[in-house]
Amino acid sequence: MADEAFVTLATNDNYAKGAMVLGKSLANHNTTRKLVVLIGPQVSDPSRSVLKGIYDEVRVVDVLDSGDTAHLAMMKRPDLGITFTKLHCWTLTHYSKCVFMDADTLVLSNIDELFDREELSAAPDPGWPDCFNSGVFVFRPSMETYEKLLQYSTEHGSFDGGDQGVLNGFFSNWATADISKHLPFIYNLSSIAIYTYLPAFKQYGGNAKVVHFLGETKPWSYTFDPSSRQLRGGGGVQEAPHSSFLLEWWSLYSSTVVPMLHEHYGDQPFHSGCVEFQLSDMVTFDSAQEERLASHAAAAPPLSSEERKERWEQGQADYMGMDSFENIQRKLDAFLK
Ligand code: UDP
Ligand code: MN
Repeated sequence: MADEAFVTLATNDNYAKGAMVLGKSLANHNTTRKLVVLIGPQVSDPSRSVLKGIYDEVRVVDVLDSGDTAHLAMMKRPDLGITFTKLHCWTLTHYSKCVFMDADTLVLSNIDELFDREELSAAPDPGWPDCFNSGVFVFRPSMETYEKLLQYSTEHGSFDGGDQGVLNGFFSNWATADISKHLPFIYNLSSIAIYTYLPAFKQYGGNAKVVHFLGETKPWSYTFDPSSRQLRGGGGVQEAPHSSFLLEWWSLYSSTVVPMLHEHYGDQPFHSGCVEFQLSDMVTFDSAQEERLASHAAAAPPLSSEERKERWEQGQADYMGMDSFENIQRKLDAFLK
Protein backbone atom coordinates (compact mmCIF):
# COMPACT_ATOMS: atom_id res chain seq x y z
CA MET A 1 0.00 0.00 0.00
CA ALA A 2 2.99 2.27 0.54
CA ASP A 3 3.58 1.99 -3.17
CA GLU A 4 0.12 3.26 -4.07
CA ALA A 5 -0.87 6.89 -4.35
CA PHE A 6 -3.54 9.42 -5.22
CA VAL A 7 -2.17 11.86 -7.79
CA THR A 8 -3.38 15.28 -8.88
CA LEU A 9 -2.09 18.15 -10.99
CA ALA A 10 -1.99 21.93 -10.60
CA THR A 11 -0.20 24.16 -13.10
CA ASN A 12 -1.11 27.45 -11.41
CA ASP A 13 -2.14 28.91 -8.05
CA ASN A 14 -5.86 28.63 -8.76
CA TYR A 15 -5.78 24.93 -9.51
CA ALA A 16 -3.41 24.64 -6.53
CA LYS A 17 -6.32 25.78 -4.30
CA GLY A 18 -8.35 22.93 -5.73
CA ALA A 19 -5.49 20.51 -5.08
CA MET A 20 -5.26 21.73 -1.48
CA VAL A 21 -8.95 21.08 -0.85
CA LEU A 22 -8.79 17.71 -2.63
CA GLY A 23 -5.76 16.62 -0.58
CA LYS A 24 -7.46 17.70 2.65
CA SER A 25 -10.62 15.82 1.70
CA LEU A 26 -8.64 12.62 1.02
CA ALA A 27 -6.80 12.95 4.34
CA ASN A 28 -10.00 13.73 6.25
CA HIS A 29 -11.47 10.48 5.00
CA ASN A 30 -8.43 8.62 6.29
CA THR A 31 -6.89 7.34 3.11
CA THR A 32 -4.07 4.88 3.73
CA ARG A 33 -2.40 5.79 0.42
CA LYS A 34 0.24 8.39 -0.36
CA LEU A 35 -0.76 11.81 -1.73
CA VAL A 36 1.15 13.22 -4.71
CA VAL A 37 0.68 16.55 -6.49
CA LEU A 38 2.34 17.40 -9.78
CA ILE A 39 2.83 21.15 -10.10
CA GLY A 40 3.84 23.45 -12.92
CA PRO A 41 6.73 25.90 -12.60
CA GLN A 42 4.23 28.79 -12.31
CA VAL A 43 2.93 27.69 -8.91
CA SER A 44 4.14 30.25 -6.35
CA ASP A 45 6.41 29.43 -3.41
CA PRO A 46 3.78 30.02 -0.70
CA SER A 47 1.34 27.75 -2.54
CA ARG A 48 4.06 25.11 -2.81
CA SER A 49 4.61 25.35 0.96
CA VAL A 50 0.92 24.84 1.65
CA LEU A 51 0.83 21.87 -0.75
CA LYS A 52 3.85 20.40 1.06
CA GLY A 53 1.85 20.57 4.29
CA ILE A 54 -0.89 18.47 2.75
CA TYR A 55 0.80 16.17 0.22
CA ASP A 56 3.49 13.54 0.80
CA GLU A 57 5.14 14.45 -2.48
CA VAL A 58 5.11 17.72 -4.43
CA ARG A 59 6.78 17.16 -7.77
CA VAL A 60 7.52 19.94 -10.27
CA VAL A 61 6.88 18.92 -13.84
CA ASP A 62 8.12 21.26 -16.51
CA VAL A 63 7.41 19.76 -19.88
CA LEU A 64 9.17 22.61 -21.71
CA ASP A 65 12.28 22.10 -19.68
CA SER A 66 12.34 18.34 -19.57
CA GLY A 67 14.52 17.71 -22.63
CA ASP A 68 12.98 14.28 -23.06
CA THR A 69 10.36 12.88 -25.40
CA ALA A 70 7.73 15.03 -23.69
CA HIS A 71 9.63 18.10 -24.82
CA LEU A 72 9.79 16.80 -28.39
CA ALA A 73 6.09 15.95 -28.31
CA MET A 74 5.40 19.43 -27.02
CA MET A 75 7.31 21.04 -29.92
CA LYS A 76 5.07 19.22 -32.38
CA ARG A 77 1.82 19.77 -30.51
CA PRO A 78 2.06 23.00 -28.49
CA ASP A 79 -1.76 22.96 -28.22
CA LEU A 80 -1.55 19.96 -25.89
CA GLY A 81 0.52 21.66 -23.18
CA ILE A 82 -1.41 20.76 -20.04
CA THR A 83 -2.31 17.37 -21.51
CA PHE A 84 1.37 16.43 -21.69
CA THR A 85 1.81 17.62 -18.13
CA LYS A 86 -1.04 15.36 -17.01
CA LEU A 87 0.43 12.37 -18.89
CA HIS A 88 3.52 12.82 -16.70
CA CYS A 89 1.68 10.93 -13.97
CA TRP A 90 2.70 7.71 -15.77
CA THR A 91 6.35 8.49 -14.87
CA LEU A 92 5.67 8.03 -11.13
CA THR A 93 7.18 4.56 -11.33
CA HIS A 94 8.08 4.43 -7.62
CA TYR A 95 4.37 3.62 -7.23
CA SER A 96 2.88 0.42 -8.60
CA LYS A 97 -0.66 1.75 -8.89
CA CYS A 98 -2.23 5.20 -8.67
CA VAL A 99 -5.55 6.96 -8.85
CA PHE A 100 -5.43 10.24 -10.74
CA MET A 101 -7.91 12.90 -9.64
CA ASP A 102 -8.49 16.30 -11.21
CA ALA A 103 -7.79 19.24 -8.93
CA ASP A 104 -11.46 20.21 -9.28
CA THR A 105 -12.69 17.08 -7.53
CA LEU A 106 -13.73 16.71 -3.89
CA VAL A 107 -13.80 13.45 -1.96
CA LEU A 108 -16.90 12.86 0.18
CA SER A 109 -15.94 9.50 1.71
CA ASN A 110 -13.04 7.04 1.74
CA ILE A 111 -12.39 5.70 -1.78
CA ASP A 112 -9.35 3.48 -1.15
CA GLU A 113 -11.27 0.57 -2.67
CA LEU A 114 -10.44 2.08 -6.07
CA PHE A 115 -7.00 0.49 -5.74
CA ASP A 116 -8.66 -2.91 -6.24
CA ARG A 117 -9.26 -1.85 -9.85
CA GLU A 118 -6.93 -2.16 -12.81
CA GLU A 119 -5.63 0.26 -15.45
CA LEU A 120 -7.51 1.94 -17.02
CA SER A 121 -10.57 2.17 -14.84
CA ALA A 122 -12.73 5.29 -14.99
CA ALA A 123 -16.34 6.43 -14.85
CA PRO A 124 -18.41 7.26 -17.94
CA ASP A 125 -18.47 10.82 -19.17
CA PRO A 126 -21.94 12.34 -18.74
CA GLY A 127 -21.75 13.97 -22.18
CA TRP A 128 -20.79 10.80 -24.09
CA PRO A 129 -21.02 7.72 -21.86
CA ASP A 130 -19.01 5.51 -24.26
CA CYS A 131 -16.07 7.73 -23.36
CA PHE A 132 -14.65 7.73 -19.88
CA ASN A 133 -14.25 10.98 -18.00
CA SER A 134 -10.56 11.59 -17.30
CA GLY A 135 -11.17 13.46 -14.04
CA VAL A 136 -10.78 10.25 -11.99
CA PHE A 137 -8.92 7.18 -13.26
CA VAL A 138 -6.90 4.22 -12.02
CA PHE A 139 -3.54 3.68 -13.74
CA ARG A 140 -0.21 1.90 -13.43
CA PRO A 141 2.86 4.13 -13.76
CA SER A 142 5.13 2.78 -16.49
CA MET A 143 7.75 4.47 -18.66
CA GLU A 144 6.72 2.23 -21.51
CA THR A 145 3.08 3.35 -21.33
CA TYR A 146 4.22 6.95 -20.91
CA GLU A 147 6.32 6.87 -24.10
CA LYS A 148 3.47 5.22 -25.99
CA LEU A 149 1.03 7.86 -24.77
CA LEU A 150 3.33 10.67 -25.90
CA GLN A 151 3.79 9.03 -29.27
CA TYR A 152 0.05 8.53 -29.60
CA SER A 153 -0.61 12.19 -28.76
CA THR A 154 1.86 13.55 -31.31
CA GLU A 155 0.58 11.26 -34.04
CA HIS A 156 -3.16 11.45 -33.40
CA GLY A 157 -3.60 14.60 -31.32
CA SER A 158 -6.66 14.86 -29.13
CA PHE A 159 -10.16 14.79 -30.57
CA ASP A 160 -11.35 17.21 -27.89
CA GLY A 161 -8.13 19.17 -27.50
CA GLY A 162 -7.44 17.87 -23.99
CA ASP A 163 -6.24 14.83 -22.07
CA GLN A 164 -9.65 13.14 -22.16
CA GLY A 165 -9.51 12.91 -25.97
CA VAL A 166 -5.99 11.50 -25.93
CA LEU A 167 -6.69 8.97 -23.19
CA ASN A 168 -9.94 7.75 -24.76
CA GLY A 169 -8.15 7.38 -28.08
CA PHE A 170 -5.33 5.42 -26.47
CA PHE A 171 -7.45 3.22 -24.19
CA SER A 172 -9.95 2.84 -26.99
CA ASN A 173 -11.59 -0.42 -25.94
CA TRP A 174 -12.69 0.92 -22.54
CA ALA A 175 -16.38 1.08 -23.50
CA THR A 176 -16.67 -2.57 -24.49
CA ALA A 177 -13.78 -4.69 -23.23
CA ASP A 178 -14.12 -5.12 -19.48
CA ILE A 179 -17.00 -3.94 -17.30
CA SER A 180 -14.81 -4.02 -14.17
CA LYS A 181 -13.00 -1.02 -15.62
CA HIS A 182 -16.21 0.99 -15.55
CA LEU A 183 -16.23 2.84 -12.27
CA PRO A 184 -19.65 3.62 -10.88
CA PHE A 185 -20.67 7.18 -11.63
CA ILE A 186 -20.64 8.01 -7.89
CA TYR A 187 -16.80 8.03 -8.09
CA ASN A 188 -16.91 10.96 -10.49
CA LEU A 189 -20.23 12.70 -10.13
CA SER A 190 -19.96 15.71 -12.38
CA SER A 191 -21.94 18.72 -11.35
CA ILE A 192 -23.32 18.95 -14.91
CA ALA A 193 -25.15 15.63 -14.51
CA ILE A 194 -27.12 17.05 -11.63
CA TYR A 195 -28.84 19.43 -14.02
CA THR A 196 -29.24 17.05 -16.93
CA TYR A 197 -30.88 14.25 -14.92
CA LEU A 198 -32.19 15.71 -11.69
CA PRO A 199 -34.48 12.79 -10.70
CA ALA A 200 -31.47 10.42 -10.84
CA PHE A 201 -29.48 12.84 -8.77
CA LYS A 202 -32.28 12.96 -6.20
CA GLN A 203 -32.40 9.16 -6.13
CA TYR A 204 -28.67 8.38 -6.08
CA GLY A 205 -26.84 11.65 -5.32
CA GLY A 206 -26.64 10.84 -1.63
CA ASN A 207 -24.32 7.92 -2.48
CA ALA A 208 -21.79 10.18 -4.18
CA LYS A 209 -18.19 9.54 -3.14
CA VAL A 210 -16.46 12.05 -5.40
CA VAL A 211 -17.92 15.23 -6.84
CA HIS A 212 -16.27 16.75 -9.92
CA PHE A 213 -16.73 20.47 -10.61
CA LEU A 214 -16.31 19.95 -14.31
CA GLY A 215 -16.64 22.87 -16.69
CA GLU A 216 -15.57 26.45 -16.90
CA THR A 217 -16.58 27.72 -13.48
CA LYS A 218 -14.61 26.15 -10.66
CA PRO A 219 -15.38 26.37 -6.93
CA TRP A 220 -12.58 28.90 -6.47
CA SER A 221 -14.06 31.22 -9.09
CA TYR A 222 -17.26 31.86 -7.14
CA THR A 223 -17.98 34.61 -4.71
CA PHE A 224 -20.74 34.70 -2.20
CA ASP A 225 -23.26 37.49 -2.28
CA PRO A 226 -24.59 38.01 1.23
CA SER A 227 -27.46 40.27 0.14
CA SER A 228 -29.06 37.60 -2.05
CA ARG A 229 -27.64 34.75 0.03
CA GLN A 230 -26.35 33.10 -3.13
CA LEU A 231 -23.11 31.96 -4.65
CA ARG A 232 -22.26 33.94 -7.74
CA GLY A 233 -19.94 32.87 -10.49
CA GLY A 234 -19.23 33.16 -14.21
CA GLY A 235 -22.43 31.35 -15.06
CA GLY A 236 -24.67 33.52 -12.90
CA VAL A 237 -26.53 32.55 -9.79
CA GLN A 238 -26.16 28.93 -8.74
CA GLU A 239 -29.02 26.97 -7.31
CA ALA A 240 -29.21 24.01 -5.02
CA PRO A 241 -28.47 21.06 -5.17
CA HIS A 242 -25.16 21.73 -6.91
CA SER A 243 -24.53 24.60 -4.53
CA SER A 244 -24.57 22.25 -1.53
CA PHE A 245 -21.43 20.56 -2.94
CA LEU A 246 -19.93 23.97 -3.63
CA LEU A 247 -20.60 24.94 -0.05
CA GLU A 248 -18.96 21.76 1.15
CA TRP A 249 -15.89 22.69 -0.92
CA TRP A 250 -15.99 26.19 0.51
CA SER A 251 -16.35 25.09 4.10
CA LEU A 252 -13.27 22.87 3.79
CA TYR A 253 -11.39 25.60 1.96
CA SER A 254 -12.17 28.32 4.46
CA SER A 255 -11.68 26.24 7.59
CA THR A 256 -8.47 24.43 6.67
CA VAL A 257 -6.79 25.89 3.59
CA VAL A 258 -7.22 29.64 4.13
CA PRO A 259 -5.44 29.54 7.52
CA MET A 260 -2.53 27.68 5.89
CA LEU A 261 -2.41 30.19 3.05
CA HIS A 262 -2.26 33.02 5.54
CA GLU A 263 0.53 31.32 7.40
CA HIS A 264 2.67 30.96 4.28
CA TYR A 265 1.84 34.19 2.50
CA GLY A 266 2.52 36.24 5.62
CA ASP A 267 2.07 39.90 4.71
CA GLN A 268 2.11 39.24 0.98
CA PRO A 269 -1.29 39.81 -0.57
CA PHE A 270 -3.15 36.82 -1.92
CA HIS A 271 -6.69 36.35 -3.06
CA SER A 272 -8.50 33.90 -0.85
CA GLY A 273 -11.83 34.50 -2.56
CA CYS A 274 -13.26 34.57 0.94
CA VAL A 275 -13.58 38.28 1.42
CA GLU A 276 -17.07 38.57 0.07
CA PHE A 277 -17.92 35.20 1.46
CA GLN A 278 -20.17 35.54 4.48
CA LEU A 279 -20.05 32.12 6.05
CA SER A 280 -22.68 33.06 8.60
CA ASP A 281 -25.06 33.82 5.74
CA MET A 282 -24.60 30.54 3.98
CA VAL A 283 -27.36 28.53 2.44
CA THR A 284 -28.29 25.60 4.64
CA PHE A 285 -27.15 22.07 3.89
CA ASP A 286 -29.47 19.28 2.83
CA SER A 287 -29.98 16.46 5.30
CA ALA A 288 -27.50 13.99 3.74
CA GLN A 289 -24.87 16.66 3.82
CA GLU A 290 -25.66 17.66 7.36
CA GLU A 291 -25.22 14.04 8.33
CA ARG A 292 -21.82 13.91 6.65
CA LEU A 293 -20.74 17.15 8.24
CA ALA A 294 -22.04 16.05 11.62
CA SER A 295 -20.02 12.85 11.35
CA HIS A 296 -16.87 15.00 11.27
CA ALA A 297 -17.83 16.08 14.73
CA ALA A 298 -18.77 12.60 15.93
CA ALA A 299 -19.75 12.32 19.57
CA ALA A 300 -16.62 13.14 21.48
CA PRO A 301 -15.82 14.67 24.84
CA PRO A 302 -15.39 18.45 24.82
CA LEU A 303 -11.94 19.35 23.53
CA SER A 304 -9.42 21.79 24.92
CA SER A 305 -8.90 24.78 22.65
CA GLU A 306 -5.44 23.41 21.76
CA GLU A 307 -6.94 20.05 20.69
CA ARG A 308 -9.69 21.82 18.85
CA LYS A 309 -7.18 23.99 16.99
CA GLU A 310 -5.26 20.87 16.02
CA ARG A 311 -8.38 19.16 14.70
CA TRP A 312 -9.44 22.27 12.91
CA GLU A 313 -6.09 22.47 11.16
CA GLN A 314 -6.44 18.81 10.17
CA GLY A 315 -9.76 19.60 8.57
CA GLN A 316 -11.80 17.91 11.28
CA ALA A 317 -13.74 20.98 12.18
CA ASP A 318 -16.74 20.79 14.44
CA TYR A 319 -18.97 22.43 11.86
CA MET A 320 -22.12 22.03 13.87
CA GLY A 321 -20.73 23.27 17.15
CA MET A 322 -17.68 25.20 18.18
CA ASP A 323 -16.52 25.61 14.57
CA SER A 324 -19.89 26.71 13.28
CA PHE A 325 -19.95 29.04 10.33
CA GLU A 326 -20.42 32.06 12.54
CA ASN A 327 -17.34 31.22 14.52
CA ILE A 328 -15.33 30.52 11.38
CA GLN A 329 -16.50 33.85 10.03
CA ARG A 330 -15.19 35.57 13.12
CA LYS A 331 -11.86 33.81 12.76
CA LEU A 332 -11.66 34.76 9.10
CA ASP A 333 -12.44 38.37 9.88
CA ALA A 334 -9.66 38.33 12.41
CA PHE A 335 -7.24 36.84 9.85
CA LEU A 336 -8.19 39.32 7.20
CA LYS A 337 -7.52 42.26 9.55
N1 UDP B 1 -5.25 21.71 -14.96
C1 UDP B 1 -4.27 22.56 -14.47
N2 UDP B 1 -4.15 23.82 -14.99
C2 UDP B 1 -4.97 24.29 -15.96
C3 UDP B 1 -5.97 23.45 -16.45
C4 UDP B 1 -6.09 22.16 -15.93
O1 UDP B 1 -3.52 22.18 -13.57
O2 UDP B 1 -4.81 25.46 -16.38
C5 UDP B 1 -5.35 20.34 -14.43
C6 UDP B 1 -6.17 20.27 -13.14
O3 UDP B 1 -5.77 19.15 -12.38
C7 UDP B 1 -7.56 20.07 -13.71
C8 UDP B 1 -7.28 19.08 -14.84
O4 UDP B 1 -6.02 19.52 -15.37
O5 UDP B 1 -8.47 19.58 -12.75
C9 UDP B 1 -8.33 19.03 -15.95
O6 UDP B 1 -8.78 20.33 -16.26
P1 UDP B 1 -10.24 20.82 -15.82
O7 UDP B 1 -10.59 20.18 -14.53
O8 UDP B 1 -10.23 22.32 -15.87
O9 UDP B 1 -11.15 20.25 -16.98
P2 UDP B 1 -12.70 19.80 -16.87
O10 UDP B 1 -12.75 18.73 -15.81
O11 UDP B 1 -13.49 21.00 -16.50
O12 UDP B 1 -13.00 19.26 -18.22
MN1 MN C 1 -11.95 18.57 -13.94
